Amino acid sequence: MNIPMLDLSDQYKKLKNEIIESLDEVMSSSQFILGGNVKKIESDIAVFSNVNNGIGVANGSDAIHIALQAAGVKEGDEVITTAFTFFATGGAIVRAGANPKYVDIDPITFNIDPNKIEEVITDKTKAIIPVHLYGQMADMEAIKAIADKYNLIVIEDAAQAIGAKQNGKRVGELGTAATYSFFPTKNLGAYGDAGMIVTDNDDLAEEARVIRVHGSKPKYYHHVLGYNSRLDEMQAAILNVKFPHLEDWSNMRRKHAKTYTQLLNEKLSHIIQTPIVKEGNHHVFHQYTLRVPKRDELQAYLKEQGISTMVYYPMPLHIQPVFKELGYKDGDLPETEKAAKEAISLPMYPELPVEHQEYIVDKIMEFYL
Ligand SMILES: *Cc1c(COP(=O)(O)O)cnc(C)c1O
Repeated sequence: MNIPMLDLSDQYKKLKNEIIESLDEVMSSSQFILGGNVKKIESDIAVFSNVNNGIGVANGSDAIHIALQAAGVKEGDEVITTAFTFFATGGAIVRAGANPKYVDIDPITFNIDPNKIEEVITDKTKAIIPVHLYGQMADMEAIKAIADKYNLIVIEDAAQAIGAKQNGKRVGELGTAATYSFFPTKNLGAYGDAGMIVTDNDDLAEEARVIRVHGSKPKYYHHVLGYNSRLDEMQAAILNVKFPHLEDWSNMRRKHAKTYTQLLNEKLSHIIQTPIVKEGNHHVFHQYTLRVPKRDELQAYLKEQGISTMVYYPMPLHIQPVFKELGYKDGDLPETEKAAKEAISLPMYPELPVEHQEYIVDKIMEFYL
C-alpha cells in the first residue's frame, strides 16, 4: 500500500479534455492578463460567496496582504490573528507594515477564540484576521460583534474554507472581505499559484484592483504603492473548468470525513479525538485532522505502513524565529501549543477510495490497541 495525502491525477483525467481546450483558447486568443477568464471566475466566485466583488490575485498570501492594504491597514497598526495557521497569515500582516497580535485558539475548532480577542485590543488595533482552519469557519458572529464594537476591519483567511458556511452565512458575508487561495492542493486548486479577494465593500474592491496593477489608475499614473499580483488567464481558465464541480467535491470530502469518524470512533473514541463540527457550521474538510497522543510515533508508524499524513502546523507563528522581535515565548498560547503537538491530518481528497480509509483506520488501531 502507498497512500498519499492527496492525489490530483484522477481529477485531471476526468477534466483533461476540457482543460486542454480552455488553455488552447487562451493561447490562441493571446489574451493572457486580466481577460475574460479572470472576469468570469471573479464573478462566479463573488456570487458563490454572496458578495458583490471578486478580485483575482497571484496567490492566497497576496490576497491577504492586498486586502489589508486596500482596507487601509498601514505601518504601526496592529492586526489580531491566530498563531495556529499557515505562515502566510502572519507574513501578510508584516508585509502590510502592521504588527501581528496572536490570540489563542478554541481547542474544539482549532480556530481563534473570540473570548480572548478583546484583551489584546489597543488603540492601535485595526483589524482581525480569523482563519477558517481545515475548512471550518471561526465563530464569525462573535468576531463580527467585537469588530463592530471597536470599529475594526475583519479579513477572513478562507484559503482552506471555500464553500464553508455558518448559520446559513457564507465565507465572506460577515467579514469586511475574505481571501481564497487556489494553490493546487486547496479545495479549488489551480495548476500553479492563484488567489482571490471577495468583498461586498466596493471601495475596498476598487482599491484592491488598483493595488494588483502596481497601484496604477489610470494606466501609468500611480497614487499608491502596488504590486504586480494578478490571477492570470491560464489559471483562471483552469479554475473555470473546475469551479462547477466544487460543491460535489466538498460533499465527497464531507462524506469521507463521516466515514473516518465512524470507523475511528468504533474502537478508538477513548484515545483519539475526531474532528468536532460546531453546531451551525458547514465544514468543507480541506483537512481531516485528529488530536492524538504520541502523535510523532503514530506518524512514523503510519509512514512505515505506506500511509502519508501531515502535521498542520508543527510550529505556531508566535514562536517562529522570524517573529522573535514580537516578543512571544513558549507558554504564551497554551491551547495553540498543545494543538501543535497533538494534531495530525489524514489523507483527504474527493476521490479518496473507501478501501484506503479502511486500511488507514486499521493501521491506526494497530498502533494504539
Ligand atoms: C494556503 C494558505 C494561504 C496562502 O495561500 P497561497 O496561495 O499558498 O499563497 C494562506 N493562509 C492559509 C490558512 C493557507 O492554508
